[in-house]
Amino acid sequence: HVLYLREAVEKFSTERFDVILVDLNLPDSEGISTFRKLHKVATNTPMVVLTGVADEQLAVEAVQLGAQDYLTKGTVDGPRILRALRFAIERHRNLVEATTGKQVVDPVEQTWNMGGVPKTIAGYHVRRTLGEGNTGIVFLVEKENEDGQIIGRALKILRPAIVPEKDPDGLARRFLQEAEIIAGVDHPNIVRVFDFGRAKTADFPYMLMEHIDGRSLRHFVGDKASLTYAEKASIVRQLADALSAVHAQHVYHRDIKPDNILVTRELIPKITDFGIARRPLSELTGPLEILGTPAYMAPESFVSSATDHRADIFSLGTLFYELLVGNRPFEADNIPQLARKITDELPVEPRKI
Ligand code: ADP
Ligand code: MG
Repeated sequence: HVLYLREAVEKFSTERFDVILVDLNLPDSEGISTFRKLHKVATNTPMVVLTGVADEQLAVEAVQLGAQDYLTKGTVDGPRILRALRFAIERHRNLVEATTGKQVVDPVEQTWNMGGVPKTIAGYHVRRTLGEGNTGIVFLVEKENEDGQIIGRALKILRPAIVPEKDPDGLARRFLQEAEIIAGVDHPNIVRVFDFGRAKTADFPYMLMEHIDGRSLRHFVGDKASLTYAEKASIVRQLADALSAVHAQHVYHRDIKPDNILVTRELIPKITDFGIARRPLSELTGPLEILGTPAYMAPESFVSSATDHRADIFSLGTLFYELLVGNRPFEADNIPQLARKITDELPVEPRKI
């Protein structure tokens, strides 16, 4: 929602917000005075300032005047912005608590705005965040069973901010549909789903999975962690086997990439993150978000969303290439260029690299 300063001042004098992200250059106000004016009407609201690279000095000034943080345009993506906003809220709260001695009731925790974390979900205690992707947040959760043993699980929820306003239920329903499909698949290389549903405390969908104590395959790409060729081949062979099992049920993953493969300490790969990948490209937001995935897309996926198992196989091939060579077979600065390369060109033979 883009506001003129005039409107913003009016809004912030009458409504309460958890956090304000402000671009110093608005159509009717520029520079540090934008911050001063907003800060005056929203003194008790944490503010994060957004500036261009050339304006960093202004941002520093804003922080001296009371902004919680600043972000530089072009260097940040969605997850980074969310994190900055969340930290700003936290720091602001700590500051208020420290100066007033009163505990602040956190509206974020109650409403899930900005990814605040409730203490329990579906009877499990939330311990910490395991990871965040473009669509979801995954927590390590625990529960004591009847024998007094602690059961650890991974619990995924849809990032509240990505559910589009117009169709708040579409994504959530799809999330649950996919959870149901995956829960029905029993394969050693697919993350097991034990339960799924909607949390009673707040209406958001969750998925309870086996907790994989390891890292994503992304970690093993390039020289960061050395795997032998045999290990790489073994990982890809297991992934191919897992894909073939889901394909037999006419389920397509549509977002096969190293980030969506978890690898255990014993080097057993597990496919995660089914389903949300079905979303058409137009629904995706920030540019970084788009580039992360199209790099693995099959040529036909750029022209139609009615793709099948072959698109997954293509993505697995891209992943295999990247794992072996260290870079992807097709790289480009923008999506149209990438789509053209994937469609028309042949990759350099791995042997030559
Ligand atoms: P998104 O749909 O947002 O991409 P993912 O399902 O890929 O979400 O999960 C995001 C991150 O959370 C993963 O990269 C991984 O680090 C962590 N994660 C996801 N599932 C599990 C799991 N079952 N066990 C441990 N960590 C997990
Ligand atoms: Mg993912």
